[in-house]
Amino acid sequence: MDYFPLFCRLQGKRCLLVGAGDVAERKARLLLEAGAELYVGARDFSPAFQLWAQQGKVTLLHGAFTDDWLDECWLAIAATNDDAVNQQVADAAEQRRLFCNLVDAPQQASAIMPSIVDRSPLMIAVSSGGRAPVLARLLREKLEAMLPQHLGELAALAGSLRERVKQHFSAMAPRRAFWERFFASDRLAQTLANGDRARAAAQVDALFAAPLTQQGEVVLVGAGPGDAGLLTLKGLQAIQQADVVVYDRLVSEPILNLVRRDAERLFVGKQAGHHCVPQEQINQLLLEQAQRGKRVVRLKGGDPFIFGRGGEELEVLAQHNIPFSVVPGITAASGCAAYSGIPLTHRDHAQSVRFVTGHLQQHGEMEWSKLAAEQQTLVFYMGLSQAADIQQQLLRHGMDAAMPVAIVQHGTTPQQRVACATLQELATLAQQFASPALIIVGRVVSLRTQLRWF
Ligand code: SAH
Repeated sequence: MDYFPLFCRLQGKRCLLVGAGDVAERKARLLLEAGAELYVGARDFSPAFQLWAQQGKVTLLHGAFTDDWLDECWLAIAATNDDAVNQQVADAAEQRRLFCNLVDAPQQASAIMPSIVDRSPLMIAVSSGGRAPVLARLLREKLEAMLPQHLGELAALAGSLRERVKQHFSAMAPRRAFWERFFASDRLAQTLANGDRARAAAQVDALFAAPLTQQGEVVLVGAGPGDAGLLTLKGLQAIQQADVVVYDRLVSEPILNLVRRDAERLFVGKQAGHHCVPQEQINQLLLEQAQRGKRVVRLKGGDPFIFGRGGEELEVLAQHNIPFSVVPGITAASGCAAYSGIPLTHRDHAQSVRFVTGHLQQHGEMEWSKLAAEQQTLVFYMGLSQAADIQQQLLRHGMDAAMPVAIVQHGTTPQQRVACATLQELATLAQQFASPALIIVGRVVSLRTQLRWF
């Protein structure tokens, strides 16, 4: 072990930072966050340092480094752009048995400032011992993306409950079981993320009162339209914590690759006989898995609450008191619009946008006349096989036959296909496409020629 990892309390402790440029500024920010009493020595100070000095946050030492700058210090950081000066600071610190961090030459330093993920009080530090700083940074970014923002609050709440837990559970095993449930509860996490303290307290009480057998829960996660990069951070965290992932046809392969390797995957899309698993059966499956104490993620294409029947699945869970939460996703309309250069609204062309199901039996006469109105954009989901009827109804209700339309198939994926035409050509165009595809109708479609980027 080249370096011994150590977290030290710097509150009110004098630290010396030599150098006052960009690099020093980054170090200073961290030291100030840690509450250090910061002295900064340099010939010239960047505006940030001058401002901090005016605000009384740092004390400036003007001129060339002298040994007495280290008086009373606990830690030194040499961050000038002059290697000789940095070395001089390091040598002087060494003489006094003070730890010193050297920027740009971490291997010669007696202390390293690691890459950190700050979820105070939870703190993760990553260091490559100065050998591969970029690797340490990449790792830090991965951790940053994986770990929910509210983790710090969860850790702080845990800290405030330690005594109560000790008193409530005298044996170690139930205590550990409590903490596992506490940290795994997506609902509690969600409540903390929303800043709802009263509710969090009630949920903690419920955790204390709950029987110690593990209780399952279901998280309904929107997987977005296809590009794995469009999954939310929260969605990613949920699928990486899941014991069971229930998914259907619209969830793309790259997203499924993000599921934890040892999680069970259950496909409920079209089966061999080309029949979808009936909704009741899916509802039942979610219920059974959760009742077995599993953390279930129900992964759905796009957003679960937009033509996703997410509501129906939750109703069943609610009836059986299974805890659940919902992580929204980017709906196909947003994804397809962005990736095909068609803004859904525009000051000149559309003041509103409607997401419409292509299942036409749900649209009465009244609805069609509203849909045919100007100055709006229509996005038809599941509309491909109904394209001829959509064309006919919109024309019949007065929409301009030259109204621009677009079809986007496999939007946001490498297989994305987009074609534009006019309303009177819609049915013919649709024959060249296959599901999943969206039909976009409106003057905004004409902007695609200016805004497309691939
Ligand atoms: N909950 C989903 C929609 C489910 S309905 C969402 O919010 O996006 C299924 C319909 O969504 C498909 O028939 C198709 O019209 C549309 N769709 C989903 N993914 C798509 C994609 N990548 N490209 C184009 N259309 C898509």
